[in-house]
Amino acid sequence: MSPTAKTNMPVLDNFWMPFTANRQFKAAPRLLAGAEGMYYTDIDGHRVMDGTAGLWCVNAGHGRRQITDAVTRQLATLDFAPTFQMGHPIAFEFAERLAAIAPGGPAAGLDRVFFTGSGSESVETALKIAIAYQRAIGQGTRTRVIGREKGYHGVGFGGISVGGLVNNRRVFPQIPAAHLRHTLDIPRNAFSKGLPRHGVELAEDLERLVALHGAETIAAVIVEPMSGSAGVVLPPKGYLERLRAIADQHGILLIFDEVITGFGRLGTPFATDYFGVIPDLVTTAKGLTNGTIPMGAVFASRKVYDGLMTGPEQQIELFHGYTYSGHPVACAAGLATLDVYAEDGLLTRGAELATYWQDALHSLADRPHVLDIRNLGLVGAIELAARDGAPGARAYDVFVDCFHKGLLIRVTGDIIALSPPLIVTTDHIDTIVSILGDVITRAA
Ligand code: PMP
Repeated sequence: MSPTAKTNMPVLDNFWMPFTANRQFKAAPRLLAGAEGMYYTDIDGHRVMDGTAGLWCVNAGHGRRQITDAVTRQLATLDFAPTFQMGHPIAFEFAERLAAIAPGGPAAGLDRVFFTGSGSESVETALKIAIAYQRAIGQGTRTRVIGREKGYHGVGFGGISVGGLVNNRRVFPQIPAAHLRHTLDIPRNAFSKGLPRHGVELAEDLERLVALHGAETIAAVIVEPMSGSAGVVLPPKGYLERLRAIADQHGILLIFDEVITGFGRLGTPFATDYFGVIPDLVTTAKGLTNGTIPMGAVFASRKVYDGLMTGPEQQIELFHGYTYSGHPVACAAGLATLDVYAEDGLLTRGAELATYWQDALHSLADRPHVLDIRNLGLVGAIELAARDGAPGARAYDVFVDCFHKGLLIRVTGDIIALSPPLIVTTDHIDTIVSILGDVITRAA
């Protein structure tokens, strides 16, 4: 495939592309025109295997007819209706279906669902719910939110404040926040299979922040159970349990950002299930509709919901929401997505493939430039040594080369991230590893 092929090339000037080096991209664009199952087709008709489930979202693979049909039917029946002081049945139906598979199972009580339009909106919503809840229970001084270095929680002002990726926050104002130390420790944990063994003590960092800022100023702590966007950072064994215990001790709510880990990525419906640690709020998006229609959802515990259902009944309890909260077409896509997940057993499929996936990835350990390989469920990361004076350049070259060899991967700095659709087979895994192995071996 030639990177300069110009078939069907649209004018590129007007679309200001997100999180993209626009000038670099527009000089050598890669455009996808179709998708089916595990594959994209680019505008020149070349097949590219999807090693990233789109952007961590197309968990059931591309072009699922059940979802397409449900969306088409819903568009023809009720294309839009408000959910402010109004409603429509499908939003309630979808919330009830989600409650039935809610993170942590029925005992966790995380079965109150607030709909949003994206992962970023889910994060803003969860942070605002946490602060509003604290106020509702007489803890109005708790307005600070704690995140973690290397965390990614979308691009709203709350999200960048708790986020820990410097480029995303550097030039923007932020809400009161503080940050736990990150848990990536390659010297101690390199080539860990699954959860790293060392680093549980890093959870004690929450005590440091409580001592520094005062528990009475802190509403919530938000973490990704597994950080994806920072290049796959895994929690050390016991870390999340300890974080939960410390948060409880100080009246701090715990939020899991499961925008990536929700809907089967770790081989369980949610990371909450994988770790058996129950937060107070869980943010989701992406796999909620298999990436087809933009949508997010926040799962709130009954404790949090009930805490806010106070005051006169005719009064709005939470002054927050979006035009597209519970959008009927997104709900239709979501309901069909849940059907597909259930019928194909996709929410637990990652558990069946996890060992094969792990062994396949770790077979690349002796390739040149490889500093670390990390994996959990159907997520993987290969961290390369940076080229002298050009951080990120080596992995970017690997990304471009893989694309031209028919494999879509994602890179963050010099970290390659992999998260194939959950329909991936062992043959697909072999192909992914074979292309990657060749490309990495030849990378300068
Ligand atoms: N939280 C996490 C953990 C994410 O990975 C992402 C997106 N990668 C977001 C929030 C933001 O989601 P969105 O891009 O849909 O706003």
